[in-house]
Amino acid sequence: MSSLLIKNIHTIATLDAQATELHDNDILIDGPVIKAIGPHLTPPPGTRVIDGSSKVALPGFVNTHHHMYQIYTRDLPRTANALDIWDWLKINYDIWHELDPELVYVSALVGLGLLLKTGCTLVSDLFYVFPDTGDKKLIDAEIQAAKEIGVRFHPTRGSMSLDQAHGGMPPLSVVQTDEEIMLDSERLVNTYHDPSPFSMLRIALAPCSPFSVTSNLMRETIKYARQHGLHCHTHLAEAALEDDWCKDMFGMRPFEYMESLDWVGPDVWYAHSIYVNDEEIRRMGQYRCGVASCPVCNARAGHGIAKILDMRAQGVRVGFGVDGAGGYGDMIAELQTALVLHRYMTRDMKPMSTEMLRIASQGGAQVLGWDELGSLEVGKAADLSLIDTRQLDYAGATHDLVSSVVLFGANHIVDTTIVNGEVVVEKGRLTRVDEDAIVEKANKLSKDFIARASRVTGVDYSKVPVRQMV
Ligand SMILES: [Zn+2]
Repeated sequence: MSSLLIKNIHTIATLDAQATELHDNDILIDGPVIKAIGPHLTPPPGTRVIDGSSKVALPGFVNTHHHMYQIYTRDLPRTANALDIWDWLKINYDIWHELDPELVYVSALVGLGLLLKTGCTLVSDLFYVFPDTGDKKLIDAEIQAAKEIGVRFHPTRGSMSLDQAHGGMPPLSVVQTDEEIMLDSERLVNTYHDPSPFSMLRIALAPCSPFSVTSNLMRETIKYARQHGLHCHTHLAEAALEDDWCKDMFGMRPFEYMESLDWVGPDVWYAHSIYVNDEEIRRMGQYRCGVASCPVCNARAGHGIAKILDMRAQGVRVGFGVDGAGGYGDMIAELQTALVLHRYMTRDMKPMSTEMLRIASQGGAQVLGWDELGSLEVGKAADLSLIDTRQLDYAGATHDLVSSVVLFGANHIVDTTIVNGEVVVEKGRLTRVDEDAIVEKANKLSKDFIARASRVTGVDYSKVPVRQMV
């Protein structure tokens, strides 16, 4: 296996238990593992050497929630602004019905590429729209993209099985039966899931939300997952209207519903969890549940923000997610926004910058169950990013470069990203794929996709609804 030496790094934020920072040290990588950290390391012959003298080294970030396929519908005038989330979903379901493997594949190259360029080395994505016509191998298309681009990937087999006629939100055209979903989940696990340490791909299962899947599917999913050592994911308590819906449908609040299904524990993580009360946070911590907090999306949608500091204090595992069309697709934007919003909300100077970096890296790794990731220590996975501080945003900020990443880093594109010991971003560009060609392809596909959806539904998505105009 190849080795790599990053020499004379200005600052290493190890994010070990003591949050140790090292200056003018080297990191030696052997294959997929960090072999040594220290000054003046001697590499074996043939080792590639990278200059770290103006750079901050950070553990690879971990994205815990996303919907990469939403790139094509994120700026549609018909839906992009001023709709509540359920109206937004109802219009989009009809468009997403036209998705195919090529659209999903290219969207994954875009989503994964941007995350790699903002320092992410492990990405989870929740894909849940399986149209009733066409090729169903849509998660396979995402996996293909991840393998090509070189990121560690934890796709979730999303699902919807509760259509409008049975009290759910999605139309019949994008739901599947519980049996179909379980069979395809099993196929994906048997084909792709690799639980070994330093794995590049693990599968998780993700019935989409209380209002789009049956209780039976929730129970079947968690049962199968526990038999096979998989993690499970779902949306929970994102918006206030979900409280009323769950009370009407199940006679329970959203988190109580999870408890009733045994959907609690260290193998479960929820997206958002804004509308959970203090007592529920306490119980979430006791169960060691995980939460993917998506501060940009939650703020932009006017939903508020999850109490992630309280959650961490109670033992909840917390990571960040960039969440589809609701966010920038950029992990550094998430952790910077989280710091600002929490200080605004609590009228306090907490949290500190390092806590945000820790949530984005180690926190995310714990949420997804990857113990070998999340800090820069000997024996851990060689997943890291290097930020070049010879840029205007860091000029004059020479005293605490690690905090400066969170407080002043205006350019979110990192200099270098290393995954599993391989340089996959170099000088801010992806090394394995042609970024310009991806952009061109995505733009062409997007136009054709929306035109096709428009022909099928008869809706002009370029028009802003009358009630939104000001
Ligand atoms: Zn989501």
